[in-house]
Parts: sequence; C-alpha cells; structure tokens
Amino acid sequence: MILPDASLGVLGGGQLGRMFTLAAHSMGYRIVVLDPDPHSPAGLIANQHIKADYRDRAALQMLGDECAAITTEFENIPAESLEFLEQYCPVRPAAAAVRIAQNRIDEKTFIQEHGLATAPFAAVYEVSDIENAISGLKPPLLLKTASMGYDGKCQIQASTPDEVRLAFSQMGDTPCVLEEMVELEREISVVLVRGVNGQMGVYPVGENIHDNGMLDTTVVPSGADAAITETATRMARQLADAMNYCGVLAVEFFCTRQGELLINEMAPRPHNSGHYTVDACATSQFEQQVRMMCGLAPGSTRLLSAVVMTNLIGDIWNNGEPAWQHVLNEPGAHLHLYGKREARPGRKMGHINCLADDVATAKEVTARIRAALKI
Ligand code: AMP
Repeated sequence: MILPDASLGVLGGGQLGRMFTLAAHSMGYRIVVLDPDPHSPAGLIANQHIKADYRDRAALQMLGDECAAITTEFENIPAESLEFLEQYCPVRPAAAAVRIAQNRIDEKTFIQEHGLATAPFAAVYEVSDIENAISGLKPPLLLKTASMGYDGKCQIQASTPDEVRLAFSQMGDTPCVLEEMVELEREISVVLVRGVNGQMGVYPVGENIHDNGMLDTTVVPSGADAAITETATRMARQLADAMNYCGVLAVEFFCTRQGELLINEMAPRPHNSGHYTVDACATSQFEQQVRMMCGLAPGSTRLLSAVVMTNLIGDIWNNGEPAWQHVLNEPGAHLHLYGKREARPGRKMGHINCLADDVATAKEVTARIRAALKI
C-alpha cells in the first residue's frame, strides 16, 4: 500500500491529469506530472512538472526515481515508455493493457477473442487489403485509423472500394479498421475500477449522447433497460479480468436497434463519460485512480443523485468568456473548468454536472443552462 504523502506520477497533463491531481492532493499525495506542454492543466497545479517528451529517457528516469507509483491520463503514451518505467515502480494500468487500447485492431481482436461482441470489422494495413475487407462487411462502412484516433477524429464514412481507397490515402496510408456502421438505439458506457487483487467496483451505466463523434452529454441513470445494463456491466467486468487490469477502465458500448450490445472501445483511464462521478457518486473516478495505483481498496461507487453531465467545448468562447452566472446561480449545477489558456473550436474546456432528484429535473436545469450559454 502506498500512503499519503508519497509522490505519485502521471503521464500527461490534460484535464484528466488535472482532476487526478486535484483528487490526489485532497488525499495528501504529492504529484509529479510529465507533459511537454509548459501550460498543461495538470502541470500548472502539480508539485512538480517535468516538461519533456514522453519518450525522453532521462525525464522518464527522473519520474521513476521520484515516484512510488505511476499512472497515465491518456492511452497514446508510448507503451515502451510505460514498460521502461515498470523497472522503477508499479505502473498502473500496466503497459500491456494500455498497449491493447492504443490500437483499434488489437483492441477489437482482443475483445472478440474473449467472446465479446464488437461491430463487424476488418483490418486494413495496406491498399491491397481493401477489396477483401469490404467483401466481408455490410455497408455503410466507417474507416478509422488504428491508432491515435479519438472523439470521432480520424474516421471517415466510406463504403465502395473507391471511397475506401480515397479515405485510406486521406488518413496517410496508416493501418486502419474498416467497420460496419451500426444503427444506434443508444450509446452507453461502464466505468469500473479494479485493484491489484482483482477486487472491483462498478459505477452505474451512463447514457452518452455524442455530437459529431465527440461526447456531448452523459445521463445517469441511463434509459437502458435492466437486462442491457446488467449485460454491459458483465461484459466490462469480463474485459477487465481478461487483462488482469489494475486501475480505472471505461468501456463504451453501442446498443443497436436490433437489440445487440457491442463494445466500441475501451479507455485505460478515467473517462469523460465518468466525469459525473465527481459530484454524483460516493467516490470520484479520479480518487479511484489514486486508490488503484496505490494498492488500496476501491471506494464506493454508489450513485448519490441523478445527474446530467454536459461538456463545454471551445466553440462557446467565440464571444469571450461565457456568462457563468447562468451555471453558478443554479443550486444543483457544478461547474468544472480545466484551466486551458486558449479556447479553440472542438477543444474540451470544461464540463457541468447538473444534479437533481430525478433525471427529468436534471435535464430541465441542463436545458436552461444550455439555452443561456447558447450550447
Ligand atoms: P469512436 O471514436 O470510435 O469512439 O467513435 C465516436 C462516435 O462515432 C461513437 O461514439 C459513435 O457515436 C460514432 N460511431 C463510431 N463508430 C460507429 C459505428 N460503427 N456505427 C455507428 N456509429 C459509430
């Protein structure tokens, strides 16, 4: 067990690293952030900010020497860097699990190999794979880069051989997955935590509404029925066990119009769809990240209130700082801003958690705030 006031390391200093740092600080831990950006939101509030590339061995060694355990805030940290750090101290989640989530081909293959369903897909490594890949799939299709894609970026709808070839070259001839577009009834996600000894805590299922491939809203409790909720929870647990996972894991699902439950992807870290836990659950997903990396027991995942989480994207800064009084004057609304210096269209700048006695009321308050902020 790693106890306060040990030093903990985090790779990546974005909003997830910042909320992790806030949780860790309130528990009495010291935080060292590694992120090349001198203005990274977590770096600004950490005890120490090592400003270096994620592959910089000297910087990684400094982090390893300094910290009792290390975690990551995003999956695109080079797995070799996590492996290197494993020589120094526990790295949770482990490099092996992060490596799977870094690559959509490996991820979907791993999921299917463990008897869990994904949308039908085929790997496209080079142009010559395209004909064969299309022949096994039912259009419409979506081409997604195998690595580095997130928030609906790096994906193009393409179904005919010519369209897929064009999309593949637009992606830079990089390995891709070609997958069937499914008819969505709804999207849901499960955030869970799993400790070193396999002990798990699972949060209530969240229902996610995306806008342009990017998460816009999470609603908890979700509108999914009990059977879907139970199956999604079981599938997420199974996936975590299969990886002998340690840390916070988010699993995103598609519920199709045909009644299937498919895993879209997983994130080996706290997730945007788990931000509701900060205000609406007994333990936030960020406190859990601290607990899991320190070898402690999972905190309670109990839901204390119905909640609607709304993302704040850079676009609403178009006319200057938004009129936050419309959020702060609502007793049930909690504003979270990430301290990013520059608001850009499509950039995640913050979020709002609206808590109420029931989902309908939380949605009403959210609608009022959205109208006032022109979201
Ligand atoms: P992703 O980057 O894979 O998480 O995709 C972002 C969003 O795009 C998802 O949350 C869905 O809303 C949509 N999407 C991705 N893949 C599919 C698919 N195969 N069928 C339907 N919608 C999809």
